[in-house]
Amino acid sequence: MTACLFCSIAAGEVSASFVHQDELVIAFRDINPQAPTHILVVPREHIVSAAELSAVQDPVWARLLHVSQQLAAAEGIVESGYRIVTNVGRDAGQSVSHLHLHLLGGRAMSWPPG
Ligand code: AMP
Repeated sequence: MTACLFCSIAAGEVSASFVHQDELVIAFRDINPQAPTHILVVPREHIVSAAELSAVQDPVWARLLHVSQQLAAAEGIVESGYRIVTNVGRDAGQSVSHLHLHLLGGRAMSWPPG
């Protein structure tokens, strides 16, 4: 078992409600959903946060966004709108130190975020 929760999910050591898996990226439903659609889109590679990305990981970042776009379409939230969020560090409230995009939709959201 790896020490990182999302690495463990990617390795199949911890179960999750998967909605997508490919060679670079996995996506699964958030265990504590904050909207009718709340999916986490996660690179298989252990990258701590968006602050740790380097140019060699551009394909990973692009895939994260493309998969998020495809999942939004599959969830039927393109017309109503959705939000893609990635928290970086303490002040943003990042609780899992493995890069992930939150795909949120299915309800109206306020701005600015809390
Ligand atoms: P963040 O706070 O931005 O790091 O987001 C971490 C997210 O991971 C939170 O929304 C949690 O609800 C979610 N989470 C934690 N453990 C699990 C799990 N085992 N399966 C699915 N989502 C999880």
